[in-house]
Amino acid sequence: MSQTLTETPARAEEVGTVDHWIDGASASGTGDRSGPVYDPARGVVQKRVRFASAADVDTAVQAAKRALADWSATSISKRQGVLFAFRELLNARKGELAEILTSEHGKVLSDAGGEIARGLEVVEYACGIAQLMKGEYSEQVSTGIDVYTVRQPIGVVGIISPFNFPAMVPLWFFPIAIATGNTVVLKPSEKDPSAAIWMARLLQEAGLPDGVFNVVHGDKEAVDAVLEHPDIASISFVGSTPIAQYIYETAARNGKRVQALGGAKNHMLVLPDADLDLVADSAVNAGFGSAGERCMAISVVLATDSIADDLVAKVKERMAGLKTGDGRRSCDMGPLITEQHRDKVATYIDRAAGDGATVVVDGRDGEFDGEASGFWLGPTLIDRVPLDSPVYTDEIFGPVLSIVRVEGYEEGLDIINRGKYGNGTAIFTNDGGAARRFQREVQVGMVGVNVPIPVPVAYHSFGGWKASMFGDAKAYGPAAVQFFTREKAITSRWLDPATHGGINLGFPQH
Ligand code: NAD
Repeated sequence: MSQTLTETPARAEEVGTVDHWIDGASASGTGDRSGPVYDPARGVVQKRVRFASAADVDTAVQAAKRALADWSATSISKRQGVLFAFRELLNARKGELAEILTSEHGKVLSDAGGEIARGLEVVEYACGIAQLMKGEYSEQVSTGIDVYTVRQPIGVVGIISPFNFPAMVPLWFFPIAIATGNTVVLKPSEKDPSAAIWMARLLQEAGLPDGVFNVVHGDKEAVDAVLEHPDIASISFVGSTPIAQYIYETAARNGKRVQALGGAKNHMLVLPDADLDLVADSAVNAGFGSAGERCMAISVVLATDSIADDLVAKVKERMAGLKTGDGRRSCDMGPLITEQHRDKVATYIDRAAGDGATVVVDGRDGEFDGEASGFWLGPTLIDRVPLDSPVYTDEIFGPVLSIVRVEGYEEGLDIINRGKYGNGTAIFTNDGGAARRFQREVQVGMVGVNVPIPVPVAYHSFGGWKASMFGDAKAYGPAAVQFFTREKAITSRWLDPATHGGINLGFPQH
């Protein structure tokens, strides 16, 4: 396979190739391009992943299309049975998956376990699909006439996922898509592709018929082939905002149902009456967990002047206790995903100083428990960040926590509401009235009250507002059952010859 031109030079310790998964088997496809899969804690290329051509995508779609007729006609209880079996297998073998996540993404093992647990929740939700897919029935809407609705699968669905949750984000979508009777083509991130293949094998072991779940790897070429394929009914996308917008527009132009979740810049508003120890713990956990590579990470703490100095001191004290290193070595925080990304995140630290902010802790100065070649950057704290600095305006997606000082609630709310993104936010206060006001007034899709990462549980739906989500359909929960099904309304009359209405060309009335 020829190599792509854009990859980081790094030591190669390749132990294999990640293939596609089509029609229940590994497939090498026809594409002649591939990409590197790093071990970010060691800074080495550990595998290569094949990049699908448009023809490979078509092969996967045709497999999904062939499987659709039988799978959509399979009884609900049999479909649920597969999901129950998958749930048991995933729960029993989650340690294997966590190791894959840590090895390719870099997040620490305990955090990988958390990612899987949140994905498992969605599998468990999908196990109850019999209850969730029920239609409605109205008897005798007119004499002898009943109206009822049923929900039917939409067909072959496409899922395109980001690098930062290589297991959880696919799990937001495919359990519900499969449970509702659809078949799937997943294009996971090319940066950490192995989790998707591991889950494909597990689904097969759980009894899922071949062709119901397919995985194609690749970059824009594969994504465009998915977006343009006439036999794909819908697109579920999660990734950065510019790509989410492109996906939304392109998929819609191609006649598909589409949900596209984008990037974020999440604020935590701290009022003077808040418990500052709770706030400091929360800011550190939500700012630096998974090295800040979470769409629900807290990036900005808005603190009133009266408490800001104390809060900065408390956050700094906690940061001193964090261990950054190889996720297999009981560290708190792992490396960033690639060398380029690490370098890009680090440029914001220089930029902050130039823009008049105060760099309180510079993550480049840290010590790292791992090989020197890992993609390291320690937790970074920047105070007094100006609102026109890219440190504030950009989604940095790294372990950089900014403090912005505000006069009070009104200014803090205004800053959040003026932001481009609207994924998650949190207020920290002991004033119930202020919290209630905030939850009503803030222009953000997911809100925490003294909870820094308000990711809804699986039986509510996940999604942001503004540039954090394109389209109306949130991920998982009730919104996903709607997204992956089409409602059909049936108006029915069983003829009784005695009440036959005869000829009447008027519009039907009751
Ligand atoms: P990304 O947008 O670079 O990539 C996401 C997917 O799109 C990948 O599968 C990738 O192969 C594909 N892709 C990349 N460039 C493309 C192009 N030009 N044309 C077509 N497809 C393309 O995102 P990422 O770096 O993998 O993930 C991080 C981003 O995802 C962050 O912005 C983060 O906030 C966001 N994210 C959002 C949520 C959410 O729920 N809103 C959740 C997780 C991550």
